[in-house]
Amino acid sequence: MNRADLAFDRDHIWHPYTSMTRPLPVYPVASAAGVRIKLDNGRELIDGMSSWWAAIHGYNHPVLNAALREQTEKMSHIMFGGLTHRPAVELCRLLVDITPKELNKVFLADSGSVAVEVALKMALQYQYARGNPEKHRLLTIRGGYHGDTFHAMSVCDPVTGMHSIFSAPLPQQLFAPRPECRFTDDWQQDDCSKMEKLLTRHHREIAAVILEPIVQGAGGMWFYHPRYLQELRALCDRFDVLLIFDEIATGFGRTGELFAAEHAGVRPDILCLGKALTGGCLTLAATLTTETIARTISDRDPGVFMHGPTFMANPLACSVAVASIKLLLQNNWKTTIQTIEQQLQQELEPARNLPRVSDVRVLGAIGVIEMTQPVNMAALQEFFVERGVWIRPFGKLIYLMPPYIIKQDELTQLTSAVIDAVRHPQTGTTNP
Ligand SMILES: *Cc1c(COP(=O)(O)O)cnc(C)c1O
Repeated sequence: MNRADLAFDRDHIWHPYTSMTRPLPVYPVASAAGVRIKLDNGRELIDGMSSWWAAIHGYNHPVLNAALREQTEKMSHIMFGGLTHRPAVELCRLLVDITPKELNKVFLADSGSVAVEVALKMALQYQYARGNPEKHRLLTIRGGYHGDTFHAMSVCDPVTGMHSIFSAPLPQQLFAPRPECRFTDDWQQDDCSKMEKLLTRHHREIAAVILEPIVQGAGGMWFYHPRYLQELRALCDRFDVLLIFDEIATGFGRTGELFAAEHAGVRPDILCLGKALTGGCLTLAATLTTETIARTISDRDPGVFMHGPTFMANPLACSVAVASIKLLLQNNWKTTIQTIEQQLQQELEPARNLPRVSDVRVLGAIGVIEMTQPVNMAALQEFFVERGVWIRPFGKLIYLMPPYIIKQDELTQLTSAVIDAVRHPQTGTTNP
């Protein structure tokens, strides 16, 4: 890219959550392979983000590339209305296999937000089909993030969920406090008492509870106690409310279990997957549900589930998802994640005693340093690029979620860059 390309980008192209009048710098990428992102200027960055949870096998993986190439030769896309194909069947068979056995009906969506919309529609259509149309509200916990589309926005945290200006037109949902009991704490029963109160008072109007199990992602990178999910499962059963797990960020090994809900041994009624589903190669997501919910929806007027995106079950995306899941399962992923977890713990722990650090937490292949003040993202970004690493903080959080293939010395480069950034007053907070 030349200077004119960059100027065009700045003047005409939105990036995620950016301003058209006060754009932050963007770095032109020439290519990426393994855990390395190569910039146009030749500089190589070690990736600490997995392109937002997705690129679990790193970039340009030969196995994933081969799957894409082979499928391209057959067909890149075909409509899914009235037609089907092997990549979709293979993928859904795999998904049914690796998720709880009751979740055996799959809807393939085109992005995480859409998978959430589909889950919410399923819950509402199920309640409608059972003759409970008044059960159409949703209950969730604060600190959540479920995507940028409208109904998904309504269940994001009203403050940290980035959508507060839309609160007027959004449906008003119910919010319980975020679980305060940490993953490693002793369980405190009152952690879910507010949730219980809300269900007691409002269950007649609630279709479902939706939340990210164990790890809240973009809403605050918070890890909470597995017992919360067990208590919540019991509450949902008691009050005849569905339970939806959004594992779009946590799925496929990231937290140390294949799916985060396995830390609690709890099965949801509806499960959303995305992000790492294709190993980060293409956009694809899935919403899984049970026989009962699928039947109930289908046996009542209008007799069908009311959703069907144009690019549903895109064959290229399905093929690469199959290849990515097989690649994950073939490798010793659990040990790999444990090794990354131990190293993150060891190497980030020293930050705990530094000034301006309020917390250090690690779970699976996720390492988080929480500062006392929001960080200066532009300054930090530049610092990290200078250091040869790609780490993109937000708010008060500097965090790592590297591709699983990262080597020990590469991970050390990431963690030492983070520690140095935290030490460095200029890169620290917006108000040093
Ligand atoms: C990223 C994310 C989404 C939205 O997925 P998109 O593919 O960006 O639409 C939804 N839920 C969670 C938990 C996520 O992390």
